[in-house]
Amino acid sequence: MGASAASPPTRRAGARVAGLKVTESVCPYCAVGCGQLVYTRGGELVDIEGNPRSPINQGTLCPKGAASRQLVQQPGRLTKVRYRRPGGSDWEELELEQAMDMIAERVVAARENGWQDADRQGWRVDRTLGFAHLGGATLDNEENYLIKKLFTAMGAIQIENQARI
Ligand code: SF4
Repeated sequence: MGASAASPPTRRAGARVAGLKVTESVCPYCAVGCGQLVYTRGGELVDIEGNPRSPINQGTLCPKGAASRQLVQQPGRLTKVRYRRPGGSDWEELELEQAMDMIAERVVAARENGWQDADRQGWRVDRTLGFAHLGGATLDNEENYLIKKLFTAMGAIQIENQARI
């Protein structure tokens, strides 16, 4: 066995994650799906690192993935639904249930307002041009499959994804 690159004080100090609970996870940011090791102490998040056992990233993380701890602990993180009315200049806080109801009402109205039974040539189309769907890069194959099924079933024809890879 060769000489260690670590100095005696460094070896004595030990790893900063020593004694912490470690849980394997996947970076939530993009479809590369890098493996992560999530370190916690008493249920509190302490550190997130790349998982060397992952064949995808082999222990590395890009700057975004390396900062994913901020998704949970960044003090400016929004935890309530915020809504700005049409023409309004101030944000209002809404309960999640109320916001979900408002979204559902708008989806139904947009679908009906943009509905077409037939196109200009008279061909039957049974579709809506009232809304489209643009997926984000963090969506995985399974989520994209379900989104495509849902929006197609509602009559949408413009369904796209901003794939990162
Ligand atoms: S955001 Fe970076 S670390 Fe996360 S999955 Fe994508 S490439 Fe990997």
